[in-house]
Amino acid sequence: MKIYISSDMEGIAGVVNWNEVNNDQADYQWSKQQMTKEVQVVCETALELSATKVIVKDAHDSGRNINITELPNGVLTHRAWTRDPLVMMSGVEDGYDAVVFTGYHAGAYSAGNPLAHTMNSTAYRYIKMNGVYMSEFMMNAYTAAYYKTPIIAITGDQAICDEAKSLIPNIVTVAVKSCKGSACTTMSGNEALLAIEEGVRTAIKGYRENPKACALGIPDKMTFEISFANAGLAYKAQFYPGVKLIDNCTISYETDDYYEFLRMFFYAC
Ligand SMILES: [Zn+2]
Repeated sequence: MKIYISSDMEGIAGVVNWNEVNNDQADYQWSKQQMTKEVQVVCETALELSATKVIVKDAHDSGRNINITELPNGVLTHRAWTRDPLVMMSGVEDGYDAVVFTGYHAGAYSAGNPLAHTMNSTAYRYIKMNGVYMSEFMMNAYTAAYYKTPIIAITGDQAICDEAKSLIPNIVTVAVKSCKGSACTTMSGNEALLAIEEGVRTAIKGYRENPKACALGIPDKMTFEISFANAGLAYKAQFYPGVKLIDNCTISYETDDYYEFLRMFFYAC
């Protein structure tokens, strides 16, 4: 069984402030350690359950957060950014049996995390697909689905776990914190690791019993709406083929091929 792990930081245990996820801040050092440990436990559990390949995409900010010296032998880590349309899912096109998300967080326009955003916290007010606000989880889940790879588990804040369950009812979710206003209430770092271990164990066993339980279908027709933080960004985006400017700050784009959305988002936004 080949497992692809996409790891973010705003959804790990404890983190509640930008100073804790920006690598030029003193507060970042402990969150980097916690992120590493959360990824480490996923990798160890996967290998213990006889995964034959485990790759980790370090998918936060610089893509250089996870301390690889702490990861078990047999794990590959994809660091920094290839600069391709798959972004946080780069490499998933190589073919994996299952995807696990760690440290994922509520998306743009959500009240579920003080750090809620989708892909860029300053460029977009929101991104919608067929009228639904799009989180990084949703965007990346459809990317995995495009390569026929099920998403078997997600760890992160309560809001993104709830969203994941509604999109993929059989996914295993591990909510390590819940957020309200500008605060969060969190498990201890170690308790989060135990909960993640148990979740990943359940997810891998579930996959082996029914490999299709977490399959996600992609809609035949998709309409995307992106509301930018300023009119200049929307003005530029309208020149990508197929993009329509629908008001000063908002564009829409229709497609029946999810990859074309990823390509548009990569080049126009
Ligand atoms: Zn993120």
